Amino acid sequence: MKIATKMIHAGATPDPSTGAIMTPIYQTSTYVQEAPGKNKGFEYARSQNPTRKALEEAFAIIENGKFGLAFSSGVAATDAVIKLLEPGDEVICANDMYGGTYRLFTKVFEKFGIRFFYVDTTNAANVAAAITTKTKLVWLETPTNPLMNITDIEAVAAITKPKNILLAVDNTFASPYLQNPLDLGADIVMHSVTKYLGGHSDVIQGALMMNSAELREKLYFIQKSCGAVPGPMDCFLVLRGIKTLHVRMKQHCENGKIIANWLRKHPKVAKVYWPGFEDSHGYAVAKKQMRDFGGMLSFTLKDDSMENATRVLSSTHLFSLAESLGGVESLINHPASMTHASIPREERLKNGLTDSLIRLSIGIEDAEDLIADLEKAIG
Ligand SMILES: *Cc1c(COP(=O)(O)O)cnc(C)c1O
Repeated sequence: MKIATKMIHAGATPDPSTGAIMTPIYQTSTYVQEAPGKNKGFEYARSQNPTRKALEEAFAIIENGKFGLAFSSGVAATDAVIKLLEPGDEVICANDMYGGTYRLFTKVFEKFGIRFFYVDTTNAANVAAAITTKTKLVWLETPTNPLMNITDIEAVAAITKPKNILLAVDNTFASPYLQNPLDLGADIVMHSVTKYLGGHSDVIQGALMMNSAELREKLYFIQKSCGAVPGPMDCFLVLRGIKTLHVRMKQHCENGKIIANWLRKHPKVAKVYWPGFEDSHGYAVAKKQMRDFGGMLSFTLKDDSMENATRVLSSTHLFSLAESLGGVESLINHPASMTHASIPREERLKNGLTDSLIRLSIGIEDAEDLIADLEKAIG
């Protein structure tokens, strides 16, 4: 099945009780049993819910996986993956990744004896060099937030597979429309569904996708035991969001390309981070593993002061100043003071995350209007 058909039909079977074409919102906590132990496959809604089940089937299909699991947030999905591990186990992860993932790893799990090692995964050799006999998981994010670094998933999988080390990829920035890590050798795909999959800035949710039935059993056990499950209304909203993922992503990519090229020529802009530039560091790998380059980009200003960045950030009208990304409306964000404020300034600067770095989540409005808005703000 081709991609558009898949997005529209994934997980969509008419409701068996009425024939309703859209999966109903099964707003229930429990299910009446015919006799003790005799039920229709649904016992208690933390463990099973028909709306969630339809969505989890959709998750599997859109990532070319066999199984999908839904969680109450992206970080809850990540949390479930780390709970596969035991004290003493080691994780290798990217040194440039979502701040909430870093916080979860360092502030929550380190105290349980799990050790995390941060390396520059854009060079797969660094991953190989960090592996010890205790390494159980490699956690990748590509493209990264906010510097759009690209890691070669296939190259890392070639290192982890022979050693039976799990490879998990946070695929939030690309979305399943642009990149399918399971096809490239990953064992687990994680999404902050909150972003492109939901697509309308109206839901917090997470997802895991995988091919191994054994892994699915272990993660399902964690899902029901720890209980970070989304409600049926949120599942319904995401089922609805996925149906337009391909048309939204096409427009995000088209607008992203126009705006990246426009910014690059702007006399007041210093540097634009977007993986679609042929001379960008990650271009060759992005071209190989992604279908297009996405709607996320960052840029710095020639006047690299906090004041100048603040002036631009406060002057847009169509771009709303907010955290998050992946919705139909465009957002503007200041990593140094917002999403990445928890990282010490010296650390930030080392990685190129300067005071004037501005991140854009390009929405699906008309590109001309978005450019006019940015033109006025940059001045
Ligand atoms: C937002 C985000 C997360 C966390 O997801 P939540 O749904 O906010 O819990 C994880 N990874 C990336 C890349 C994100 O952008």
